[in-house]
Amino acid sequence: MRDPVTAYVALGANLGKPAQAVCDALVQIGELPETKVVRHSSLYRSAPVDSSGPDYVNAVAEIATRLDAVELLRQLQLIETAAGRERPYRNAPRTLDLDLLLYGGARIDSARLQVPHPRMGERAFVLVPLAEIAPGLVPPGQLDAVSGQGLTLLK
Ligand code: ADP
Ligand code: MG
Repeated sequence: MRDPVTAYVALGANLGKPAQAVCDALVQIGELPETKVVRHSSLYRSAPVDSSGPDYVNAVAEIATRLDAVELLRQLQLIETAAGRERPYRNAPRTLDLDLLLYGGARIDSARLQVPHPRMGERAFVLVPLAEIAPGLVPPGQLDAVSGQGLTLLK
């Protein structure tokens, strides 16, 4: 059997009960086949970036998985769908968004999956929770560059 791969998943939600949706998704990710959640960040609140509607709740999870990257994305999309995710238009508000940030050291550039996630370096709501659980993965300069984006710890 293949060795487990360390991967990072960004969770976000801004419709319905977003904090509940993120917590439920963390549990469901840990229940995926061949997958466990190693650690996850605090929950954060952020104003929508390139999107609209209520504030988002965001978090990042580190997982260990034996699923390959494409199968992992498919499983994450099933969790999104089960949470009532609809895609009426690009960047629409969402009940749950699960993005694969990193999959080991893999670089993937296919139509369905790009890893590392192409926009992760621009977004405080990804970089701050990622730096909380894996500081070595986020250069300080990159964190400084997004520090103006409003992001608060969710109490
Ligand atoms: P958003 O870019 O706002 O997260 P969606 O969640 O609707 O938008 O994702 C759109 C598409 O992005 C998905 O159908 C998926 O195939 C593709 N995609 C490419 N790379 C990734 C990735 N690393 N993580 C999640 N989805 C990805
Ligand atoms: Mg997504």
